[in-house]
Amino acid sequence: MSDPDPGPWPAQVTVDLDAIAHNVGVLRERAGSAEVMAVVKADAYGHGLVPSARAALAGGAAALGVAQPAEALALRQAGVQAPVLCWLLTPAVDADALLAADVQVAASAPWALDLLAAAARRSGRPAQVQLKADTGLARGGAFALPVTDGDPRTDFEALVRHAAVLAAEGAVRVVGVFSHFAYADAPGHPTVRAQREAFADAVRLAEGAGLHLEVRHLSNSAATLTTPGAAWDMVRPGLAVYGLSPVPDVASAADLGLRPAMTVSAQVAVAKRVPAGQGVSYGHTYAPERATTVVDVPVGYADGVPRHASNVGPVQVGGRRFRVSGRVCMDQFVVDVGDLPVQAGDEVVLFGTGADGAPTAQDWAEAAGTISYEIVSRFGPRLPRRHVGQAGR
Ligand SMILES: *Cc1c(COP(=O)(O)O)cnc(C)c1O
Repeated sequence: MSDPDPGPWPAQVTVDLDAIAHNVGVLRERAGSAEVMAVVKADAYGHGLVPSARAALAGGAAALGVAQPAEALALRQAGVQAPVLCWLLTPAVDADALLAADVQVAASAPWALDLLAAAARRSGRPAQVQLKADTGLARGGAFALPVTDGDPRTDFEALVRHAAVLAAEGAVRVVGVFSHFAYADAPGHPTVRAQREAFADAVRLAEGAGLHLEVRHLSNSAATLTTPGAAWDMVRPGLAVYGLSPVPDVASAADLGLRPAMTVSAQVAVAKRVPAGQGVSYGHTYAPERATTVVDVPVGYADGVPRHASNVGPVQVGGRRFRVSGRVCMDQFVVDVGDLPVQAGDEVVLFGTGADGAPTAQDWAEAAGTISYEIVSRFGPRLPRRHVGQAGR
């Protein structure tokens, strides 16, 4: 079964839902007794929010995680009923809508608890909250480490105290405590141990304040796969759900048993012969040494192809590997295919599962000097997404 024909757009993102379900199965195994919260923020890392979420649940995910409240509401509007946590709040948040939609919300500061408690008093039902502890990433969360010498009180402690008061009143229900690693992709890094210890302290503090936590979670994909001892009750993988390795220097997706879910392909728009020395694409940064065939591929940086992959991004045409020739443009790029007989309409694969010799998102990440997270999540809404497979349908 697949979505309706996306129409004549000559480039597409194909997403294998069965691969997503399979990858969640791999993560469940790695997580031991801990449950899997599949992270589906950023349109499921570009894979399509709702079908990916359903596939992850079919694969055994117990909950879903997103960054923005609007992403959580989009899941509810689509009828997804699993527990959903969103963790990027600003004071402009519509707490009433989140409460009405039965969404769990991460609180990083007392003001967030107050907003949620106010909504709870209006609706007559408690807000479900998870307290976010900053154990050393210094990004979101209430800072859980001392700041000033000699003063052991922390922002996280203040958050816990405030939550305990609101919980006693019945305005909030504190479902969990969680945190996020700075260096999970370097398992031996000293911050990994330090953050694990700081998280244990944060949990102790919350439980000591009388909060009955249902879930305590710390591990993203890299930690789930490399530091199983950090799993607590739940793990929170994103990238690995989509079949990409969060630790490409340590283990490939294949080594980890993961199946990349996304394939990006396009159909050649123009194929033509050009003479030796003909500069190709804007700025003529590439010129063939001899007469050759160049093909114009109708997908560009407005679709998510990184311009940094100019002259280096790998592609597969006719079963053979080539590279982007010259600069990536807004809607297209060029590939020198030598004397390969290629015609308009022939398929060009940018990346896929890697099983058939085609490049992977990781190959593109290396070519463009970035991480595979950015490669897949940037393939934006202009390209039709075609979902294949059965999981979650
Ligand atoms: C994005 C994110 C995750 C998932 O991270 P991956 O490295 O993709 O597994 C987990 N937790 C939080 C708080 C995040 O922002």
